[in-house]
Amino acid sequence: MSELTPLEDAQRLVLDRCEPLVPRAVPLHEALGCVLAEPVTARTSVPPFANSAMDGYAVHAADTTNAPVTLDVLETIAAGARPTRTVAPGQASRIMTGAPVPDGADAIVMVELTEGSPTSATVTVTQAVPAGNHIRHVGEDVAAGDEVFDTGTVLTPGHLGVLASLGVDAPIARPRARVGVISTGDELLNGSIHDSNRPALLAACTRAGFEAVDLGIVGDDGDALTKAIEHGAATTDVLLTTGGVSAGDFDYVKRILDTQLQVAIRPAKPLAFGVVDGTPVFGLPGNPVSSMVSFELFARPAIRKLMGFAPDQLHRQRYTAFADEAMTRHPDGKTHFVRVTAHYDDDDGRWHVKPAGGQGSHQLLALARADALAILPDGPGVQLGERVTVVLLC
Ligand code: AMP
Ligand code: MG
Repeated sequence: MSELTPLEDAQRLVLDRCEPLVPRAVPLHEALGCVLAEPVTARTSVPPFANSAMDGYAVHAADTTNAPVTLDVLETIAAGARPTRTVAPGQASRIMTGAPVPDGADAIVMVELTEGSPTSATVTVTQAVPAGNHIRHVGEDVAAGDEVFDTGTVLTPGHLGVLASLGVDAPIARPRARVGVISTGDELLNGSIHDSNRPALLAACTRAGFEAVDLGIVGDDGDALTKAIEHGAATTDVLLTTGGVSAGDFDYVKRILDTQLQVAIRPAKPLAFGVVDGTPVFGLPGNPVSSMVSFELFARPAIRKLMGFAPDQLHRQRYTAFADEAMTRHPDGKTHFVRVTAHYDDDDGRWHVKPAGGQGSHQLLALARADALAILPDGPGVQLGERVTVVLLC
């Protein structure tokens, strides 16, 4: 039997051969989850002008000290309009939320603290307000010239909102990785087995924030596989194949890729890897659970590296949970990944896990039911109530 490669060594070996994608201007509507490759500096202030935080009246605060007081109304200023009149003492302008504060005024009185109608020439202010009341000042959120986001920022909906408010419509970021998925196997082509790996992996790619590209099924034919891998490599940033990497007579993928590993894990022991035409190609195992676990452990972190994630952001966060059922195993030189359901218990403030079902590498149902993978280092496993390290899959 060939030698087993420790998981961390196999992960490093793959990651070392993956380079981040070249940054480009990524339109905001495509940028969610992308990583900034340049800092963003505000060219304008937000808000760009002093504006009202309320529907009401722009006034001199000093006029309201002895409220109630009646003021002359000059005009109505809508959001998006420009004030045309300067507010002098004894005067007010009716103003809507977001509209520019007119010259002269130093406070807004909200409409609820006034008496009058939209058309009346005067308004009565019923309560005193301080200077600055309900005024949003220029640059209160972001000042022009500020560096708002650093290189390496992972763009969330909030970031996209700020960028839009600054007039940045295509920040310089690493693009979303295009990930091609190919299933291999004559049994899939002739329909004797349904292809479950491809839909599952395409979905895993989408959920990870990658662009999933369906490249179909290829039979167990060395020439056809070579062609399909070359074509896939030429048209995507990363290529995933499944099947054909174990010890069978028709396992061709591992002969096409330059690196074959037997990783010291269960499931997902076999892995092939190569770089074809500059494109990383992962030969994931064919067994359905193995292909998904291998994606989690090798492909997902590597593709995150391509997308510009930092070294400490490549792998999923690990948590400590407590076993609600024993998960025993025997020492075999491998780390075991057990598909588990997980729940957080409010009463004891802990995560609890238990096996999600049958743990064979062909038993996909337990993976479907699982929320997490429990990591069992080589050894006897864990007993009921013991601590266990988990990664959440959501
Ligand atoms: P292989 O490594 O190609 O021998 O595949 C290992 C096992 O996984 C075999 O039982 C295959 O039939 C099965 N398998 C391979 N690819 C898929 C797939 N895309 N969907 C479902 N089962 C598969
Ligand atoms: Mg096969």
